[in-house]
Amino acid sequence: MTARIIDGKAIAAAFRAECKIRVDRLAQEGVRPGLAVVLVGGDPASQVYVRNKARACEEAGIHSEVHRLPEDIPQADLLAFIARLNADRALHGILVQLPLPRHIDNRAVIEAIDPAKDVDGFHLSNIGRLVVGNALYPPCTPFGVMKMLEHEGIKVEGADAVIVGRSLIVGKPMAFLLIDAGATVTVCHSKTRDLAGHCRRADILVGAVGRARMIGAEWVKPGATVIDVGINRLSDGTLAGDVDFEAVRKVAGAITPVPGGVGPMTIAMLLGNTVRAAEVAAGRTSSLRETRIA
Ligand code: NDP
Repeated sequence: MTARIIDGKAIAAAFRAECKIRVDRLAQEGVRPGLAVVLVGGDPASQVYVRNKARACEEAGIHSEVHRLPEDIPQADLLAFIARLNADRALHGILVQLPLPRHIDNRAVIEAIDPAKDVDGFHLSNIGRLVVGNALYPPCTPFGVMKMLEHEGIKVEGADAVIVGRSLIVGKPMAFLLIDAGATVTVCHSKTRDLAGHCRRADILVGAVGRARMIGAEWVKPGATVIDVGINRLSDGTLAGDVDFEAVRKVAGAITPVPGGVGPMTIAMLLGNTVRAAEVAAGRTSSLRETRIA
């Protein structure tokens, strides 16, 4: 068997075009969605992510502003800055690029963001909404995975889903979204016994670890859908996922590549959440279930 390659770039492009239509609709009501991205310090990878996010916003007609703050900014100043963004009515979304410098308490900063503008979905009230199955802004990466599964017609209800990784950004929210969609979910991590055995039972296997090509063909059930969230830079400068793509594609039914899989979906979902924030502010939608996208 050779797996179908899930083209995240193409699915993300379709989703972004959909966002543009929603932006045009809002424009007729005099509303332009606005996103503020806050970058503290000069981490090179973060600089690239922030640039890409800003460019994608502009292409979709979303106003975006990037605030570059010094690495040594006192936490109190950062919190005061976020309070100003919260009060700015032209901004519907606020994203603080992680990781933050070590002297800053990440949680305190995230909690300072107005939950209505927390388009990353990391504020405790948004995590709570996700857990009860009524997310306002599902975290972008797992939300992007759900959209890919939906787009590809992959049945989630009744499926055995296994996630490798339990971070707050990917693994845990992924679990709640899959549970909500009717999957039976197992979350594995560094303390899991018989990781390979768990993975082999998966109809849908999500790798979110950060270890290049850790998931090999012998861990994959024939015909399974394999979603590779991992992004790992190899010594030759190229990127690899957590999945051994060339080996696993011979066993899986469908697989996402790296790059060109989950990555483009993450940015597309950020745009979607920002447009949604503007729609909510304009009194348009009150629940995610009312927003049918892509
Ligand atoms: P974290 O480092 O926060 O979490 C990694 C998880 O993997 C942890 O739960 C950890 O377990 C688990 N883990 C580590 N080693 C093993 C092991 N040997 N066996 C089983 N589990 C293990 O990473 P993130 O969740 O933030 O990111 C994961 C990957 O996804 C990274 O490569 C990152 O770059 C990528 N990523 C990609 C995005 C995209 O848009 N495509 C967006 C966000 C992230 P434990 O909790 O026990 O330590």
